[in-house]
Amino acid sequence: MDFTPDPSSWSGRSAPDIAREFLGQDFVCPSCGRRHAVATRAMVTRPGVEADFEPVLRGLGISGRPLVVFDRNTFAACGEAVMNGLAPFGPTAFVIRRDDLHADEQALGSVLAAMRDGPSFLVSAGSGTVTDITRYNALRAGLPFVAYATAASVDGFASSVTPLIVDGFKRTYPGKAPLAILADPGVLAAAPRRMTAAGFGDVLGKVVALLDWRISHAAEDEAHCPMIDALVDKAVQECLALSGALARSEPAAVGSLLDILALTGIAMQLMGTSRPASGGEHQVSHLLEMRDIQRHRAGSLHGDKVGIGTLIGMTLYLQLFGDGNLPAQRPTMTARVWEDEVRRVFGPLADSVLATNPHEPPTGADWEAQKRRISGYMEREGFATVQGFRALLPAAVRMIADIGGPVRPDQLGYSVQDACDAIGFGKEVNAAKMTVLRLADRFGSLYGFAEDVSAGLPEGRVY
Ligand SMILES: [Zn+2]
Ligand SMILES: [Zn+2]
Repeated sequence: MDFTPDPSSWSGRSAPDIAREFLGQDFVCPSCGRRHAVATRAMVTRPGVEADFEPVLRGLGISGRPLVVFDRNTFAACGEAVMNGLAPFGPTAFVIRRDDLHADEQALGSVLAAMRDGPSFLVSAGSGTVTDITRYNALRAGLPFVAYATAASVDGFASSVTPLIVDGFKRTYPGKAPLAILADPGVLAAAPRRMTAAGFGDVLGKVVALLDWRISHAAEDEAHCPMIDALVDKAVQECLALSGALARSEPAAVGSLLDILALTGIAMQLMGTSRPASGGEHQVSHLLEMRDIQRHRAGSLHGDKVGIGTLIGMTLYLQLFGDGNLPAQRPTMTARVWEDEVRRVFGPLADSVLATNPHEPPTGADWEAQKRRISGYMEREGFATVQGFRALLPAAVRMIADIGGPVRPDQLGYSVQDACDAIGFGKEVNAAKMTVLRLADRFGSLYGFAEDVSAGLPEGRVY
């Protein structure tokens, strides 16, 4: 507990370098007064990192024989290097051989069955899905776990929770943060370019997530840490500056992107919630993903949909606050219509959605008081942030497209109705979480926006 971070020492240093200071620490925060802890103890991204597995892992006190989990693609890309690097530990490789790999019961069970020899620790060699499958088994088996990242596609490497698909529904389960996150920039840069674009989209999402968080703190006193906020904000700015090099698949840039993705996972560990990294843009993404599960569609990369959700989120912020005032209050959806719509959109999930989302927005004097607090925050800095979206939005559209990612839902095969439902009902994914979607709903602006924007996106009329 004697570690004390010193933000005055941050200038001139990269955000991931600063984040490395927090690894393995448990401290009382000078910025917010809360206790923050990070279970991850090493973050190493460098060429040939596989050759350093032994000293890095021994330095963390890891010993015994590992089970190393790959999918077919990652085994082909790096199986030999990873298994050679782990050779001093006597590793066993397990390759999940499925074309449509999801973190579901079948994949979880296949890894569990492969653990018959009682491994001492688990290593995931993959991107989000392989890491999540391994993370959950590590938690349940009480084993240490190390993540070797093969693509800079998602910020979940450092996560301590696991999104799993069980009975066809995606829900968040407990998980285990990796002791170490290891990556080789050459391997990351050789992954399909669309994976890098997805990782860029997942980082870009933080521009909406951070503003959501600040407004929620102002309006509803939600816990907020200025230091964690500033660290993630700095990382996003560094990521934006990488976009040209990412479009050229330069290994050093893709390595930096992985570090920034890992950093946002560390930020979630520090805060103990997903708040520093996930807001309304992730809610749009989750609803689109739910449609894939309902339709048994193969689906797309998480960060693709987060990037799209971010562009929509910035558009909504501009519509709400772009003129430097709070929006005019319009009538909100009645509880009866809302319930019917939730049943239509969520189908078999509707009962649990209705049970966790009481339709009780603040009204009357309570809402007027919250509006004054929102107004105060917007005057202090929020309006300026939203004004910044005027330039950032078109730039972000170009950056994602240049790196090779999609910028509109129709590019991923979603209909106008899918996009409309995702914007209108993404907020119900997290009960009561204040995001730009819920905010627009309170002002009575959300559903009209969802209809206009979803119809205009495929025609290129929105951005
Ligand atoms: Zn703090
Ligand atoms: Zn994400």
